[in-house]
Amino acid sequence: MAEQEKEAALPSKKNFSEWYNDLLQKGEVMDVRYPVKGLYVWFPFGFNIRRNVYDIMRGLLDKDHQETMFPLLIPENEFMKEAEHIKGFEDEVYWVTHGGTTPLDVKLALRPTSETAIYPMYKLWIRSHADMPLKLYQIVNTFRYETKHTRPLIRLREITSFKEAHTVHATWEDAAAQVDEAIRIYTEFYRQLAVPVLASRRPDWDKFPGADYTIATDALMPDGKTLQVGTAHHLGDNFARTFDITYEDAEGEQIYAFQTCYGVSERSIAALISIHGDDKGLVLPPAVAPVQVVIIPIIFKKSDDVLEACETVKADLEAAGVRVKMDTSDNRPGAKYYKWEMRGVPVRLELGPRDLKKNAVMLVRRDTGEKEQVSLDNATDEVLSLLDAIHDDLYSKARADLKERIFECENLEDIREKLPVGIAKIFWCGNKDCGLKLEDDIGAGILGIPDEQSEGCSGKCPVCGSDSSTQVYVARTY
Ligand code: ZN
Repeated sequence: MAEQEKEAALPSKKNFSEWYNDLLQKGEVMDVRYPVKGLYVWFPFGFNIRRNVYDIMRGLLDKDHQETMFPLLIPENEFMKEAEHIKGFEDEVYWVTHGGTTPLDVKLALRPTSETAIYPMYKLWIRSHADMPLKLYQIVNTFRYETKHTRPLIRLREITSFKEAHTVHATWEDAAAQVDEAIRIYTEFYRQLAVPVLASRRPDWDKFPGADYTIATDALMPDGKTLQVGTAHHLGDNFARTFDITYEDAEGEQIYAFQTCYGVSERSIAALISIHGDDKGLVLPPAVAPVQVVIIPIIFKKSDDVLEACETVKADLEAAGVRVKMDTSDNRPGAKYYKWEMRGVPVRLELGPRDLKKNAVMLVRRDTGEKEQVSLDNATDEVLSLLDAIHDDLYSKARADLKERIFECENLEDIREKLPVGIAKIFWCGNKDCGLKLEDDIGAGILGIPDEQSEGCSGKCPVCGSDSSTQVYVARTY
């Protein structure tokens, strides 16, 4: 390895936090040098990953949602309407108090989330049964004055990529069905990122401020902590009552509407980077990789025919919809491999004079390092099936890893021992005190109650010892 390459090597992924920060910079995802705490800059390469990720989200939502955009600024009087909501966010809101040097009559909040921006308009838009279901979403930045340790893509003061959907329904049941649908959409979204997620219902003390209940999806990070990567909230008619969103029923009576909201942020990208990356850099699922195939011509002296063959392969791949780059820079092949491995390009295609003589190319997988020589004539088909195989393998590997790191635990000692590795699954009596005591005793709380409970199973709450048939996840969280 050349000196320069050695210097640029990443710390081992075993030191997850160091590895993560270094990878964001060297893999050109985020530049962390912006001079405001908790605000980071997308490198163009990282932004390209972001675009591919959010294209997947749009593809899923656009089937029956409409994209929109509401203002960033929310007047104080609207923001302050919903008591629980304010309590949940008051310590985190940035306020705009002046226009130039003139104090504003009404202070303006930078949205920490957009319920109070959107719902005054929903009051005007919802008139009758026929206006529902209304399903809108936007992808915007939001601001939260985080006082905890900030971390790029994970804990931010400016969330740059908040996808928030807001729906309105005629009945509580319709809204509940929409919450389930949101979790299905998110699970499919994460499947396409090759990230397995666990859905669970948050305990009451951890639900969204102003919601009837919250269901969230979590990904398990390499350091054993879970990352909440999607939430869906049933808002009941709580916000409708506050913002006076009503419709006329068949008898001519005004009924409060029922609402949901659900969100995903750039934490989705933090999860996919962290779960798939390795000591050599990013490992990107093909669906989101800005470059899916990099072609490295192996050139000795006069290799015009090699370059020509590479150009033909490139054109064929592009015609098949593959995102291709050809690296004809003056760097040595080793330096080129290093560069594109760091950027997570799923497939490297090498072609030199000897390959050409055999009418073959070499395909190298980024995820496993496996090499395979294939015929030049079938190169495009071989690459396409390899890209599919890479996605499937990344996903099954991540799923197996998640499954291995969920532990059924019976007592506090057992939970304590397993948490550094992953998630504990325990029986819980349902008592809030036990949930909170767990947090005090072992520094990890109840993550949530999974939808799927083992049939006929029962056990004892490890805190109070009473019998229970409800299993919950316990985890350390970001
Ligand atoms: Zn208990």
